[in-house]
Amino acid sequence: DALPLDEVDGNVIRTVKRSVFSESQPSPLKEPLTLAAVSQDVLRNILDLNESVIQNEEFVRCVSGGKLFPGSVPLAHRYGGHQFGYWAGQLGDGRAHLLGEYTNRKGERWEVQLKGSGKTPYSRSGDGRAVIRSSVREFLRSEALSLVVSEEPVWRDPFYNGSVIKERGAVVLRLAKSWFRIGSLEILTRTGELDVLRTLLDFVIKEHFKSIGTNDPDKYVVFFSRVLNETAHLIAHWMSVGFAHGVCNTDNFSLLSITFDYGPFGFMESYDPNFVPNTSDDEGRYSIGAQANVGLFNLQKLLEALKPLLTSDQLSQSQQILREYPQIYHQRFHELFKAKLGFLGNEEKDSYVIAFLLKLMEDTGADFTMTFRQLSEVTLSRLQKGSFAPSLWALSDLSSHKHFRDWVQLYLQCLSRIMSDSDEERQHRMQGVNPRYVLRNWMAESAIRKAEKNDYSEVTLLQKTLMEPFMEQEEAERAGYASKPPSWAQQLRVSCSS
Ligand code: AMP
Ligand code: MG
Ligand code: MG
Repeated sequence: DALPLDEVDGNVIRTVKRSVFSESQPSPLKEPLTLAAVSQDVLRNILDLNESVIQNEEFVRCVSGGKLFPGSVPLAHRYGGHQFGYWAGQLGDGRAHLLGEYTNRKGERWEVQLKGSGKTPYSRSGDGRAVIRSSVREFLRSEALSLVVSEEPVWRDPFYNGSVIKERGAVVLRLAKSWFRIGSLEILTRTGELDVLRTLLDFVIKEHFKSIGTNDPDKYVVFFSRVLNETAHLIAHWMSVGFAHGVCNTDNFSLLSITFDYGPFGFMESYDPNFVPNTSDDEGRYSIGAQANVGLFNLQKLLEALKPLLTSDQLSQSQQILREYPQIYHQRFHELFKAKLGFLGNEEKDSYVIAFLLKLMEDTGADFTMTFRQLSEVTLSRLQKGSFAPSLWALSDLSSHKHFRDWVQLYLQCLSRIMSDSDEERQHRMQGVNPRYVLRNWMAESAIRKAEKNDYSEVTLLQKTLMEPFMEQEEAERAGYASKPPSWAQQLRVSCSS
């Protein structure tokens, strides 16, 4: 309640002062609108809604900005951020509207947001819109309720080669426990709005870091330490599934360390630490292997934002916490990869076996996701024999390496240390952490091409498949989602154009 609301002149684009939010009305898209996809899980388990609501003709308007929910005061959030290493000034929700918050039956509090819903005071040179292709990708990976496609013309240069084409506008209704970012705090420090900074930070701590005492004199240090821990864990998790976010700017880094703002992200296919998912990232600043360091850079920026609220003692304490980041990250990375290989307990050799496997993958170009998955599905005796059926295509690629057998011997030694561990138990454990399906670009692209022709069947199939990425599913298998990627997949590029 204490946050100043800026409600003077609606959606006029400008530099906003002393505000965390501006009231801003969504602009409805040109009809007819199509409800292209809905997540049943979000509908039922997050929003407590019954499946029948989607039959209501008002539903599609409510989830695309054409009609407000009762009591909703739509807001655009003001934030700043460091983009590609440099302070970029005021950014903010340029095409997103926060519709409100919802506390569900389970007592979880969710913030409901539209993306692609029109201009706000923070749109800068943008049109406030999002096209079908980026919205399909966002719908499939974020915690989203719905994807609505419209006839709204939206002009984009998808490959940054000077040819602007007419696409269509889409809106995603997405949810998060909080949409606050590192950049939400940075802008307030940069402009010297320290009273607002304190108000916002206290709000975030009270709402989302409930175990931190509001009267704790060190609460900002504890907050920093929590965000640092969780960010290290998040990035280690990204690495464990071969995920590259693509645009790790401080305005895209959540204070709750959740993954959001899905743009030109990518899941690495053949293992390569230099994998860069975003073709607009010429220097590879946000390559998959750079993410851990970029996380550290972003946490430094968070600490700079907190600095005016810290005593000199608290600042040195926080700097010490920052120095612990590499250790926290590596520890988590190690634990996750140990689990991916099915190891129990701790052995010094484990790190070596992990690094050795990654090296074999790098040399052979074996598929990252499916190497781990197929190691989870194969029996150890088959692995030892070293000849693989065509369905085990990733292992087959891996086994072309001259040191493959050496690695297998070491791997078997590491696994044999727990006598009571059966091979079935190992496989079961590993299948629970190594996904069989990830959203590869070619899969998203295939769904997008159909969606652009008003066929949303593959968006729905992917949405269902990715709900249970660890479980083999018939329809997904038929679509080839666990097969060797088609040759046209290699030509695919994604850029920031969205
Ligand atoms: P992103 O790179 O997607 O994280 O976006 C960076 C900033 O640009 C954010 O403040 C976005 O809201 C804004 N933005 C991106 N695309 C548009 C658009 N089409 N219209 C208005 N603002 C946009
Ligand atoms: Mg963003
Ligand atoms: Mg984007």
